[in-house]
Amino acid sequence: MPYAPDLLLVNANVRTMDPARPRAAAVAVAGGKIAGVGDDASELAGGARAGNVIDLKGATLIPGFHDVHNHMIGFGLSLTELDLRVDRLDELYARVAARAAATPAGEWIIGAGYDQTKTGAHPHRDALDRIAPGHRVWLKHASSHLCVVNSLVLGDLGIDSGAPPVDGGRVAADASGRPTGLMEERAQELVGNLTRPYPLATLTSAVAAAGERYVREGLTSVTEAGVGGGWIGQSPVELAAYVAAREQGRLPVRVELMVISDAFHALAAHPSDGIEIGIDLGLRTGFGDDWLRLGPMKIFTDGSLVGRTAAMSAPYDGGPDGDGPGDAGNRGYLQADPDRLLATIVAAHQAGWRVAAHAIGDRAIDLALDAFDAAAAKYPRRDPRHRIEHFAAARPDQVARVAALGVIPVGQGRFATELGDGMLAAVGADRHSWLYRQRSVLDAGVVLPGSSDRPVVTGAPLLGIHDMVNRRTAAGTPFNAAEAITAAEALRAYTWGSAYASKAEHAKGSIEVGKLADLTVLSEDPAAVSPDRIAGLEVLATIIDGQLRYSVLD
Ligand SMILES: [Zn+2]
Repeated sequence: MPYAPDLLLVNANVRTMDPARPRAAAVAVAGGKIAGVGDDASELAGGARAGNVIDLKGATLIPGFHDVHNHMIGFGLSLTELDLRVDRLDELYARVAARAAATPAGEWIIGAGYDQTKTGAHPHRDALDRIAPGHRVWLKHASSHLCVVNSLVLGDLGIDSGAPPVDGGRVAADASGRPTGLMEERAQELVGNLTRPYPLATLTSAVAAAGERYVREGLTSVTEAGVGGGWIGQSPVELAAYVAAREQGRLPVRVELMVISDAFHALAAHPSDGIEIGIDLGLRTGFGDDWLRLGPMKIFTDGSLVGRTAAMSAPYDGGPDGDGPGDAGNRGYLQADPDRLLATIVAAHQAGWRVAAHAIGDRAIDLALDAFDAAAAKYPRRDPRHRIEHFAAARPDQVARVAALGVIPVGQGRFATELGDGMLAAVGADRHSWLYRQRSVLDAGVVLPGSSDRPVVTGAPLLGIHDMVNRRTAAGTPFNAAEAITAAEALRAYTWGSAYASKAEHAKGSIEVGKLADLTVLSEDPAAVSPDRIAGLEVLATIIDGQLRYSVLD
């Protein structure tokens, strides 16, 4: 059928992710959609002259990258936070001191990215008081599941000298009961409540700042893993920041928003509707359009491996780590009463939501799988496509269960480099083969998506793909190498797999006629270069909705 394409991409190494036609050399775009895929440009143009022809000179063209678990606003905000990714505690304190010297007294100093498995210990409130007197100091752990604050903040919270119990979290204290400044899991909400909610203008700017970075990295879609409340959300009206960014032309990538379970409440719908809980108006998964859509309910069942708070069935390895969370016999903990977690997941499923359950430790994964099982038995739904976020330390029987239930395990490739050493130490050699499974998941017939959990680690998709293939820690230790996959499989995960995890594979994730024209141009083919070079490849251009959003093509 003759048509006049807006854009014709020629002389490309096209990896379509479409099994019916895996490779091609030219792609035509019209009206924001893919209008033709072929070997010959003139065949695609249908005799008409294209508005714009780009000769890719052999570069690789793939469907746009989709990071299916990131924290876009958190990342945007982190661009202004103090970078604490250091190897020594004295270096961390030096950075805080330098920031304090340049910050007016009374203002907050917010830093992120420290990892006590690298610095040897968590920062301590007394040291922070000495180097930053007169400032409120809030230092976030790389995992986002822990943080450390100084005495002024503890004073604001009224817990300067005693640690209150916190449901689903912990205010760490020394032997005398005096808080050390370390706050775990839901205890972080206390600190967040002092600075949150952020103004919408701040959040809108964070969305825009993150989006600018994303298009440079070849991302065309991202899934935001929790807005609207809890310790991870920034404001109860967070969605409005995305709407505003879009209205202002500052939302360059497509976004799917997960709603945090804390924002759910009882709804007085008609009993026959089966909607016992939800958010106002009955908004739920699927509402929105191709640019901005509500995704799953996000629910935290447990914490972090490196922080040793994730719920394991057997204790962490190596005993005390100096500050508490690794105490001998510590098996981590669930973030709420297990019956309540299960009931919330079942009720969200019943109300028509997809559910993304954060479950890291095998004990938490059991709970999530039990909940999905119970939901399916009680309220059968065709292809609910629920997800388990991280699926970090999974026993072999849990891979089989995920496959049987049609649940998507959402892992993060880049964790291998940036958090891998701490994870190997936390679980011990006997459980190394459980960590961040990919090969066994694919072999079980389960779809594998790609994600980063940014800002927990660096989020560029090529780095994630590099680690999905190479699986090495920062120290160079193999990170459960038996679960490595090929570059072609990792590319498919970060495109089609992520679209599938978002239940959007009908609209994106592959280069096929009729799908959204979201495309990424890479300097070379990750599947054709030696695996150690993948991280060094360059994103040459990013096309979203048929528009060139980023380009360094000449
Ligand atoms: Zn996350």
